[in-house]
Amino acid sequence: MNHSWHALAGELVLRELETNAQGLSKEEAARRLLNYGQNKLPEAKSDGYPTIFLRQFESPLIYLLLAASVVMYLTGDLGDALIVLFVLVFNSIVGAVQEGRAQNTLRALKRFAETSATVLRDGKELIIRDCEVVRGDIVLLEEGSKVPADARLLSSRSLQVDEASLTGESEPISKVDDAALSAEAPLADRTNMVFKGSNITSGTGRAVVVATGLDTEIGKIASELSGIDTDVPLKTNIRNLSRAIIWVVMVGGALLFLAGLAYGHTAATMFSTVVALAVSVIPEGLPIVMTLVLATGVWRMGKRNVLVKKLQAVEALGQARIIAVDKTGTLTRNELTVERIWTNGKMFTVTGSGYEPTGSVMSEGIVVEPPNHPELLLAGKIGVFSANAQTMYSEEEHRWRVSGDPTEAALAVFGAKTGFTKTDLEGEAPLLSEMPFDYRLKYHATLHQDGDKNLAAVVGAPEAVLALCTSICVEEKNEPLTPETYEEIERVMQGLSREGLRVIGFASRRTEHMALEDRVLEHLTFGGFYAMRDALRPEVKDAMARAEGAGIKVVMITGDHRLTATSIAREIGIFKEGDEVATGEEIDALNDVELAHKLANVSVFARVTPEHKLRIIRAYRSRGDIVAMTGDGVNDAPSLVAADLGVAMGAIGTEVAKEAADIVLLDDNFGSIVSAVEEGRSIYKTIKKVVLYLFSTSVGEALTIIAALFLGMPLPVLAAQIIWLNFVTDGFLDVALAMEPKEKNILAEPFKRPAKYLIDRLMLIRMLVMAIPMAVGTLWVFSQYVALGDMTKALTMSMTTLAVFQWFNAWNCRSEKESLLRMNPFGNIYLIGATLIVIALQVLALHLPVLQNLLHTTPLSQSEWLLCIAVASSILVAEELRKLLRRLAYRFF
Ligand code: ADP
Ligand code: MG
Repeated sequence: MNHSWHALAGELVLRELETNAQGLSKEEAARRLLNYGQNKLPEAKSDGYPTIFLRQFESPLIYLLLAASVVMYLTGDLGDALIVLFVLVFNSIVGAVQEGRAQNTLRALKRFAETSATVLRDGKELIIRDCEVVRGDIVLLEEGSKVPADARLLSSRSLQVDEASLTGESEPISKVDDAALSAEAPLADRTNMVFKGSNITSGTGRAVVVATGLDTEIGKIASELSGIDTDVPLKTNIRNLSRAIIWVVMVGGALLFLAGLAYGHTAATMFSTVVALAVSVIPEGLPIVMTLVLATGVWRMGKRNVLVKKLQAVEALGQARIIAVDKTGTLTRNELTVERIWTNGKMFTVTGSGYEPTGSVMSEGIVVEPPNHPELLLAGKIGVFSANAQTMYSEEEHRWRVSGDPTEAALAVFGAKTGFTKTDLEGEAPLLSEMPFDYRLKYHATLHQDGDKNLAAVVGAPEAVLALCTSICVEEKNEPLTPETYEEIERVMQGLSREGLRVIGFASRRTEHMALEDRVLEHLTFGGFYAMRDALRPEVKDAMARAEGAGIKVVMITGDHRLTATSIAREIGIFKEGDEVATGEEIDALNDVELAHKLANVSVFARVTPEHKLRIIRAYRSRGDIVAMTGDGVNDAPSLVAADLGVAMGAIGTEVAKEAADIVLLDDNFGSIVSAVEEGRSIYKTIKKVVLYLFSTSVGEALTIIAALFLGMPLPVLAAQIIWLNFVTDGFLDVALAMEPKEKNILAEPFKRPAKYLIDRLMLIRMLVMAIPMAVGTLWVFSQYVALGDMTKALTMSMTTLAVFQWFNAWNCRSEKESLLRMNPFGNIYLIGATLIVIALQVLALHLPVLQNLLHTTPLSQSEWLLCIAVASSILVAEELRKLLRRLAYRFF
C-alpha cells in the first residue's frame, strides 16, 4: 500500500488507515505491531567471532612476525618458527574473545539509547518506545521531540521541523495541517507531512502515522540512524606512543643486532632475538585491552544511570575541570509551583504543593475568595490562557505529572486554584492567535476572544513584560506607570527574586485586533507578578561537595534573573562570597578575549540564552579548560556539540539534545555527572596500570638481554621464550589487570591530564624500579647456572625467573601507592584466576614434551623453583619501598 498521503485530506487518511483521532486501541496496536513488525531501521551488523578472529591478523606486527617465522624456518630453526605461529593463533583467540566481549557490552548499551514517542491510544496519551509505533497511531509532537515515523499532520500549532537527516537542509520548515496537496509534490514540499528521523524545532502538532520502519522515507534510503560511537579515546596519545616506540624499536633493534654480532653471536640468533624483543615491546594488544577497559567502565556507568554515547567522551569525563550546569531541571526539579502573587500593592500567598490543583489563596494569613479580588481573577485567567501545558494524575506513580513547559504548568495549576480551567475557558474565550514562549523575547503572548472585545495577554520575564507596558491595573482601572510605581515594582521583583523565586510578570489589554501584530503588543497594562518556586534536588548539595573535592568548578547557567539565580546558587554552594555573576547583557558587551578573561571569577551566568552558552563554552575552551556542559532544549544542541563533554538530561531532555550529547544522564541527576567523572578517571587509571604492566615487563626483558650482551654473557632468553613470556604470561595477566575494580577516593586525588605519550614521569620511574630488579635478578640466576655448564637448565632458570617476576609485577601494578599488604587480596578475582592459569602454564612449559622442545626447557627441582621465586620477589620489595616513599609524600616517587 503506497499512497500519496499528502494528497489526501486528514479525514480520509484516518479512514484509510482504519483509525481515528482518539488513536488505536491497545489491542489493535499490539496486533499491528505483530503483523507489520517493529518501527526500526536496520542496525549496523555486528561481526561474528570468525570475522573478529580473522581481523586479529590484520596488523603490520603480525605480518612482521609471520615474515620472521619464515626467516626462522629458513635458517633452520623450526622450533622457533612453530612457536611464533602457535602464539599468533593463541594471541588472535584471546584478542577475538576480548573484542567480542567489548562489542557485546557496547551493543547492550545501545538498548539504553532508545528514543521514545508519545502516542494516543484509547484516547489516552502514552509514552512508548519509538520502535513500537504502528501505522494508524496518532503521535503527539512537541518542541524537541523526534518524529518517530512518517505521519500526516492532523493539527499543528506553530510547528517547525528540521529535516536535515532526510534532505540535508537544516533550515527549519514550517509544517501545517493543510488540506490535500498535489500528489506530485516533491518530498521537501509535503508540508502537511512529517518524516521519521526529523526533529521538531518548535511548536506542537498531532499526526497520524502512515508508514513505519523500512517503509518510511528514511527507511527507503536505508540509512542508519546515529547510534553509539565507539571511537576509542586517548587515541592521539596512543598514536604518539606507537610512533615513538616504532622509532625506538627500529633504531634500538639495529644497534642491538650490530652489538650482538660484535660480541660474537650469530646473525640468525641475533635476528630472532631482536625480532622477538621488538614484538614484545610493541604494545599490539593495547587497543583491544583499552576497549575492554572502556567497555566495562562504560557499562558500570550505565548501571549508575549515565549513558555514554561516545566512548571518546570518557577521556573528557576524566579530565573535566569545569561543569557548566543548567539550573532548571539539573540542580532543581523543574517542578514549579506558584507561591506568591503580587498585584499592585497587594501580596498574596498561594498554598498547595506541586502540581496538585488544590490549594487556596491567602492574604495576610487569611484565605481570600478570588471572586472578591478582580486582579486575582485576572492573574488566574491570564495564567490559564498562557499555559500550554497539561497536568495529569498518574495512577501508577501516585502523583501529578506534567507534559509541556513546567513554568506554564505552574500557571495552569495556579489558575485552577482561582477557579479557572483550560477546557472551560477555551470554550468561553476561544484562542485567536498565539506567540509561544521565545527565549529571546522572553515572553509568551496570546490573544483570546473575551466577551465583546478580545484580550491580548503577555506573560514573561518582568523586564520583558514591563517594556511593553505603559499603565498598571489598579482596582480594575488603568493608571499610568509613574517612576514611583516602577520603583515599587522593581523593589518587589528584587525581593521575590532574592528568595530564590522565579518571578514572571503578566500584562494585558483589550483590543479589537484579531491577530497578534506588533501594534497589539504595546501600551499594555501591567497586572503583576507570579512568583514560583522550583525545589532543589535533594542530592545536589552532596554532589556539589564531591565535585569540589575533585577540583572541579561548577558554574550555573540559567535564563532566570540574576537575583533568583544567585540566591539558589548560594544555597547549593556554587556561589561563594567574592564570586561574580555575569548576565547575558554583560556578556554581549564583551568581546571573546574579554569574556575569557572575565570567566575566572564567574560562578553564575544569569539571563542567558542558548547562544550565550555557546560563547561561554568557547571562551572556557580558549582558556584551555576542559568543559562539560548540560543542556536539554533544541537550542542547546550547538553548545552540547561544542563542549568537550555534552551532557543531556534523559528525562526532561529533548530527543534533539540527547542526540547531540556525548553522554545522557538517565535520571537527570547532577550527582550522576560527578559519579561519571569518577568512573572516567578510574578508567584512565586502569588503562595506565595495564600500560605500565605491558611496558615494564618488556623493558625488563630488553634490559636483561642488553645487559647480557654487554657483559659478554650468552643470551639469557631465547626468542621463543621471549614470545612465550609476552604473549602467554603477559597476555593473561594484563587482561586480568584491566578488570581491576575502581579505587576508593579517586575523586579526592589530584588528577593530571594524560601525558602526550600516555606514559608520565611516575610511570617511567616505576618502569625502572621494576625493570632493574628483573634484569639484575635474572642475570644473576642465569650466570649461576651457566657457570655449572648446563645451558638448558640455565635458560629454563632465567625464563622461569622472568615469568615469576611478571606474576608478581602484575600484582605490583594494582596500585600506585597502596601497599599490596593493605589491599584486599580478593579485590580482583580475575587477577587471581589469571595468576593461577599462568602458573599452570609455566609448569606445563617445563614438563610437557612438546613445549619442552619448542621452548628448550627442562623440569626444575623444588629448590630451583624456590630460588626463582625468591629472586623474583625482589620486585615486590622494590615496589613496596617506592610506594612507601610515595606515601611518605616524596612526590618524586
Ligand atoms: P531557564 O534556562 O532557567 O529555564 P528560560 O530561558 O527558559 O530560563 O527562561 C528565562 C525567563 O523567561 C524566565 O526567568 C522567566 O522569567 C521567563 N519564562 C520562562 N519560561 C516562560 C514561559 N513558558 N512563559 C513565560 N515566561 C517564561
Ligand atoms: Mg526554560
